[in-house]
Amino acid sequence: MAVDLSLPYDPGNVFAKILRREISVQILYEDEYALAFPDISPQATIHVLIIPKGAYVSSADFGASASNDEIAGFARAISKLAEQLGLIRNGYRLISNTGPDAGQEVPHYHVHLLAGEKLSAKLIKKNAE
Ligand code: AMP
Repeated sequence: MAVDLSLPYDPGNVFAKILRREISVQILYEDEYALAFPDISPQATIHVLIIPKGAYVSSADFGASASNDEIAGFARAISKLAEQLGLIRNGYRLISNTGPDAGQEVPHYHVHLLAGEKLSAKLIKKNAE
């Protein structure tokens, strides 16, 4: 079900459970600001999700409410992850679905990192419904 951006943060969402270690994932990167783990339903050879440690519903919420340190720390974490995965030379795609029109399903801000193959030029998200 698509995320309703007007709702407050729901601590019962799956990524909050991952942060609390109630659901186990393969941790690919972690620091004070971010956690990265493989997407359970990969859409590219490499498909990693990066989430901030703070409780933000969406990219919109994060940009509006996170501290400068959190925003900078999260951006740097993504770059460090990409370097760690050896992607700086061939590149990668970052996507953040935000709200119903983008088909956001999990109401905790996350960035998809897609890589490891030539990605199609345009479509960056599965079709809705
Ligand atoms: P979005 O549609 O942008 O909200 O993306 C949510 C993503 O979370 C989807 O690509 C799902 O495959 C992924 N996902 C949901 N549950 C898990 C989980 N337990 N571990 C890893 N990825 C998950």
